[in-house]
Amino acid sequence: MCGVVGIHAPGQEAAPLAALGLFALQHRGQESAGLAVSDGTGVMVYKDLGLVAQVLDDRRLPSLRGDRAIAHCRYSTTGSTLWENSQPAFRMGPRRTVALGHNGNLVNTRKLMEELQAGRGRIVGTSDTELLTALLAEEPGDDLVESLARLLPRVAGAYSLVVMDETRVIGVRDPFGIRPLVLGRLPPETAGGAHGWVLSSETCGLEVLGATYVRDVEAGEMVVLGEPHGPRSVRFAEGREQLCVFELIYFARPDSFMLGRNLYEVRRRMGEALAREAPVEADLVMPVPDTGAPAAAGYAEQSGIPYREGMVKNRYAGRTFIQPSQALRQRGVTVKLSPLPDQVRGRRLVVVDDSVVRGTTTRRIVEILRRAGAAEIHLRISAPPIHHPCFYGIDTQIETELIASRLDLEGIRAFVGADSMAYLSIGGVLDAIGLPRERFCFACFDGNYPVPVPYDVASHKFVLEQPVEAGT
Ligand code: SF4
Repeated sequence: MCGVVGIHAPGQEAAPLAALGLFALQHRGQESAGLAVSDGTGVMVYKDLGLVAQVLDDRRLPSLRGDRAIAHCRYSTTGSTLWENSQPAFRMGPRRTVALGHNGNLVNTRKLMEELQAGRGRIVGTSDTELLTALLAEEPGDDLVESLARLLPRVAGAYSLVVMDETRVIGVRDPFGIRPLVLGRLPPETAGGAHGWVLSSETCGLEVLGATYVRDVEAGEMVVLGEPHGPRSVRFAEGREQLCVFELIYFARPDSFMLGRNLYEVRRRMGEALAREAPVEADLVMPVPDTGAPAAAGYAEQSGIPYREGMVKNRYAGRTFIQPSQALRQRGVTVKLSPLPDQVRGRRLVVVDDSVVRGTTTRRIVEILRRAGAAEIHLRISAPPIHHPCFYGIDTQIETELIASRLDLEGIRAFVGADSMAYLSIGGVLDAIGLPRERFCFACFDGNYPVPVPYDVASHKFVLEQPVEAGT
């Protein structure tokens, strides 16, 4: 995951705008936050571990001056949760100064590291983003755009980037467009009467700034802000978008739009499809809060079974799935969810959630509801089973951790302790979205990876924390 924002707001302070946009993307990463800003003469970076509002607060923002900025919140998929791995990554090289924020995950990290080391380069942190930034700072080229166009064809994997030097802010999307990135226009009052522009991982990052959605950055495209005649499009590769379908199912915020679809509505329709595919007799339909709510609403509407909330979420606890260790994940569930026993006791429940990754969270939810007196628990998942790891920016890189890679449906049902269980089919997902399968990456469901994943990528998250042996 990760969230990225880029701003060019002539005549205005860009840092508060970038921080506000990033605040709307907080759900995409909660480990660290940071911002790079330029007044046209020098790039300054501030970043730290913590949430956006903790890191980019009123004490910091006034000192970050300039009308160009990029911002980033992190959810780690390569490298540990260290300050050194927080972003934007920053490099002041002999050729240029560059700051870079990355949403995604590279799959040829070792090869790129060997390339850097061959030129005697080093990185401070252990993330693929640090590596990419170091390579970019050294890459020949007359300017940042040319250097990116030279470097990116050697970079494999998923990347939606915001990159800046002293004068430009650039949005980049990899040739498969696996992670989203949109371009919006700031209202004239925000941009001092001039045209200001914003790049954001999701449209909710535009909305909070009052910006108008202009278009998606295309797969294989760079959009350059800070040019005299508005954003400039530069193609560095032929693009064939295969957007991560999980963005639509779960990751992105429900008020965001992707491929012209509002994600709340897509998820509600997934719930309707689930009710058609896997009906059951029950008294109430309940969401696993908050992300299961739209699909639960759709299931209730389609089935005619009343919708009721049966659990309360502590909104100040992080998303369970995002916390980096299994121990934290397990502790997080009880911190996060409490039952409403009067709603649950003696009732036959359809419990709707949007995914099952390791199964441990689901098992705890079933336990919580049983303890609160539920008579029956029928689990309905508004996504297909996750059989395969993701190497493109979601921290599910170890196949054996995925419950659906080890157990069949009956085995999973028995593990989580539900009375019945069903997943939505891939066809059901596509019906709800209303677009053809070729438009999306479905690799964690069907194993068809758009970007080939090298074998050694199995140890990927910490690949730069192990010694790099030449030729491996
Ligand atoms: S493998 Fe799954 S989670 Fe990863 S990009 Fe593809 S669809 Fe998304």
